[in-house]
Amino acid sequence: MPISVDEPLLDIAGLSTGYGKIGVLNGIRLTVRASEVVALLGPNGAGKTTLLRAVSGLLPWSGSVRFAGRNLAGASPRDVVRAGLTHVVEGHRVFTQLAVLDNLLLAAYDLPRGERAARIEEAFALFPEIAAKRHERAAWLSGGQQQMLAVAQGLVRRPRLLMLDEPSAGLSPVLVDRVLEVVGRLREAGTAVLLVEQLIEKALALADRVYALARGSIVLEAGTEEPELPRRLEQAYMATGGWSATARLPILTDFLDTRTQGMPDA
Ligand code: ATP
Repeated sequence: MPISVDEPLLDIAGLSTGYGKIGVLNGIRLTVRASEVVALLGPNGAGKTTLLRAVSGLLPWSGSVRFAGRNLAGASPRDVVRAGLTHVVEGHRVFTQLAVLDNLLLAAYDLPRGERAARIEEAFALFPEIAAKRHERAAWLSGGQQQMLAVAQGLVRRPRLLMLDEPSAGLSPVLVDRVLEVVGRLREAGTAVLLVEQLIEKALALADRVYALARGSIVLEAGTEEPELPRRLEQAYMATGGWSATARLPILTDFLDTRTQGMPDA
């Protein structure tokens, strides 16, 4: 079904889900527009991963999820991927016993052969580090390179929306920057990204908009250019209590300082 000009690419409304009888998310409203990078922040256990799982068809949910003009109610994970939405799970899960190239061939297994080869080369072009190791076992890649491979696996289907769950987890700062730089390039190429990230300042520097999730509910939605954002985020963080405010606030302060320095003199 064609998407109307005004309709977001991903449109989540009133979504509730959980694990069996344990409710985790309550009435979530979140949108991602085409070619937009949206950051989803929140403390451990807030429900970020659960939201990605629900949208990808891995958990049953109630409410409404529309993607590219299509209602995803009852859609299986395979339906969701075929609709153009891929989910790169946390912890760079790749098949370590298989070669790098075979990991990508598996991710693209149901594409026509010629297209499969072209898409794999496209993914390799974004990550020359792993292209050079295409015939090596994924087990021999560094953690950062395995994360690149996990993202590349998501990209071989040329998704309209890529959901990335903590791509920085366990990576050195240089490799975090390298993976996030690719997110910026994806946006330029027209791919939307929903980015779950604990590195707040990096996520905010990259994203167009941000949502904060706490205890299963959205507590903040803002554009990252909004002058009041650092203060609002700080309030949202403190109000949640369970959020490790002491660890996070210096990061916010740094972010605020950077923004203030970047502003023209009054
Ligand atoms: P983190 O940043 O630590 O990954 P998160 O915001 O992604 O946190 P979730 O992993 O979505 O949070 O967890 C939300 C809640 O759901 C937590 O209370 C967690 O204990 C619970 N939970 C997560 N996975 C399961 C599961 N498989 N079965 C039962 N409860 C779960």
